[in-house]
Amino acid sequence: MRFSFTPEQDAFRQEVREFLARELPAEGLRHYEDGWITGFSPGFSRKVGARGWIGLTWPTRYGGKARGPMDRLILTEELLRAGAPVAAHWLGDRQVGPALLAYGSEEQKAFFLPRTARGEITFCIAMSEPAAGSDLAALRTVAIEDGHEWVIRGQKVWTSFAHQAQYCYVVARTDPAAPKHKGISEFVVDMRTPGITVRPLIDMLGEHHFNEVFFDDVRVPASALIGQKNRGWYQIASQLDFERGGIERVFSNYPLFHDAVEHARRRGLTRDARLRDRLARLMVDLEAGRLLVYRVAWLLSQGKVPTWETALSKRFGTELEQEIAEVALSIFGLPGLLMPGAPGAPLDGRPARAALYAPAYTLQGGTGNILRNILATRGLGLPAD
Ligand SMILES: Cc1cc2nc3c(=O)[nH]c(=O)nc-3n(C[C@H](O)[C@H](O)[C@H](O)COP(=O)(O)OP(=O)(O)OC[C@H]3O[C@@H](n4cnc5c(N)ncnc54)[C@H](O)[C@@H]3O)c2cc1C
Repeated sequence: MRFSFTPEQDAFRQEVREFLARELPAEGLRHYEDGWITGFSPGFSRKVGARGWIGLTWPTRYGGKARGPMDRLILTEELLRAGAPVAAHWLGDRQVGPALLAYGSEEQKAFFLPRTARGEITFCIAMSEPAAGSDLAALRTVAIEDGHEWVIRGQKVWTSFAHQAQYCYVVARTDPAAPKHKGISEFVVDMRTPGITVRPLIDMLGEHHFNEVFFDDVRVPASALIGQKNRGWYQIASQLDFERGGIERVFSNYPLFHDAVEHARRRGLTRDARLRDRLARLMVDLEAGRLLVYRVAWLLSQGKVPTWETALSKRFGTELEQEIAEVALSIFGLPGLLMPGAPGAPLDGRPARAALYAPAYTLQGGTGNILRNILATRGLGLPAD
């Protein structure tokens, strides 16, 4: 199959590249791996927002630009390819904004969407709990209705950006008597509300980006409910597709791949056929992963709902990201891993960091095993058990 971009799409890509070539050196953050997770720069996000590039696909009355999913994919691809620090707005743009657009009240849309689009709001997402990760519907945090308020009680874990976010998207059980998928609701909560405690979790890199979050009888107004009470599970399903189906599941460490190839070339390592072969295969896989993500955007632009397609692109892409980290580690410091007998060199921080971060790729946003389950059941129609 051959496809090409429209002249407008090519021009938009060029516009984004020029913006990044100008802004990133000024920010001093070029070539930042995992820029959508650890590249937290509210100032840069405001600049992206000022261009109208957050909430690009949202209606103009909510601060968006009413552009198509393909344009958004071109934009996000270029941001990640360049290693831009986009974490401060990524979850709002990718996930919470679309969830509010689909299910939020008019009041929620009018308040949150324009602010998110301007790059003023950082969201965190409090789904996972100590005993509810892959089996999210097992969550125990409750939200109890009390007059015109909800009282939230429970504990979340692995909550990225909870220490930096102004608002949190919280999933809680609102009908403990109902079957587990049927009594769940979604809320948007101001992180300044009394009763919320955020405790840092330090990852094995020694970095702090996720947290434990405790809700001790946190009172939020009735208006914090997103969509319908007890219908949260069905609302979440479409949101997870937004979470999983983007280019960030393929390109998180693209800058590292690019620099590893350059480094190998300069050091003469690419004279080794084994390394050339490995790099060529990674290149092919990067292109294949990119096309899987383009298919998701194409389905969205046709008004279709991707289901197993997002699981496929995330599974393929995140395992590839892990392989890139491994190959980069070899190229920068331990060529002997790939080419037995080749001399080693001291490791600098960047490839070591990438290798240590890599296990997260196939965990965050749903593990590889869970994605295989989705592919088996929804993609191939195999029985669930
Ligand atoms: C860097 C990072 C950032 C994160 N950020 C957030 C965040 O912002 N908000 C949030 O809510 N969560 C976040 N998470 C949590 C993430 O969504 C969970 O780690 C993930 O869903 C897995 O849940 P778990 O860790 O409880 O593992 P478990 O669900 O306990 O799984 C343990 C192992 O068992 C396997 N397994 C479990 N069930 C099945 C099954 N049915 N079939 C086959 N295998 C199975 C899993 O694949 C895994 O290998 C983050 C995680 C990471 C690593």
